[in-house]
Amino acid sequence: MTTVAAYAAPAGKAPLERTTIERREVGENDVLIEIRFAGICHSDIHMAREGWGEAIFPMVPGHEIAGVVTEVGSGVTKFEVGDHAGVGCMVDSCRECDNCKAGLEQYCAKGNVQTYGAVGRDGEVTYGGYSTHIVVDQDFALRIPDGLSLDVAAPLLCAGITTYSPLKHWNAGPGKKVAVLGMGGLGHMGVKIAHALGAEVTVLSQSLRKKDDGLKLGADHYYATSDPETFEKLRGSFDLILSTVSAPLDFGAYLSLLKTDGALVNVGAPEEPISLNLFSVIGGRKTLAGSMIGGIRETQEMLDFCAEHGIGAEIELISASEINEAYERVLASDVRYRFVIDAATI
Ligand SMILES: [Zn+2]
Ligand SMILES: [Zn+2]
Repeated sequence: MTTVAAYAAPAGKAPLERTTIERREVGENDVLIEIRFAGICHSDIHMAREGWGEAIFPMVPGHEIAGVVTEVGSGVTKFEVGDHAGVGCMVDSCRECDNCKAGLEQYCAKGNVQTYGAVGRDGEVTYGGYSTHIVVDQDFALRIPDGLSLDVAAPLLCAGITTYSPLKHWNAGPGKKVAVLGMGGLGHMGVKIAHALGAEVTVLSQSLRKKDDGLKLGADHYYATSDPETFEKLRGSFDLILSTVSAPLDFGAYLSLLKTDGALVNVGAPEEPISLNLFSVIGGRKTLAGSMIGGIRETQEMLDFCAEHGIGAEIELISASEINEAYERVLASDVRYRFVIDAATI
């Protein structure tokens, strides 16, 4: 074991503070990554504050990790010392079920091992990216192409793949009209990626406050959902709506914006169950669907795609001592568009 510095929540709802944690020795198939940057994802806050139920403490959040490989195990073929590498939301899975074999480790039948706040297959608790180093199996580490700066690449490991995977699966591309619902950490990545895929992109946001940004990042149109006229004007317009919001929605109203055979895909989820009149999907053969991150192979494809198209996240770089303040600002939607922690300050 090696002792490394980290920021951890000592208990649910307690502020994060500087501490030390143990990382395992580098095994045969492991790489040691010196973390340079870690993004703050909204789910870090849900997890650290037990918004999604009881969690394991102390907790070191962070699943948007970018850094440099500083040591490799004897069986490692994918990485060399000095390579840029990333870690996303998972660090292991069963590797045997149909989904794992198909590269859909995020839907592992036995449950994937999450990067933090989980118990690994070795029985040890996992600690995430708010830390100076991480040891991870090479199969769950991603290559970050040299063309991508590590700071803006970090959020791609969750926000990037969470939006890329459904956009690809539901065929966002030339000739397709795609709406991105919500203009936050996930939404702004959805806009950039859908635009780079060649789709005609519309942002549906509560207000027009971020309209200039949206258009600059690649949106063709921008509408306020607080304006009832938006729903009349855009009725039957979209092939795909990607919802990145976790606030309760009038799903019927959004389904009415789809064309026949259109899909409304959720990557955010309200905490409460929804109520829906099924005629909203029956009329027009529509789909109400969901999607969760992406597999390792697809995450690599996304990073290569983003490097090729010069896509990184829009970030606000902070020092580790500002994490608690950043959490409050995320909750107040006061960030454009992702906080990234400079790991040198941990
Ligand atoms: Zn995340
Ligand atoms: Zn599996």
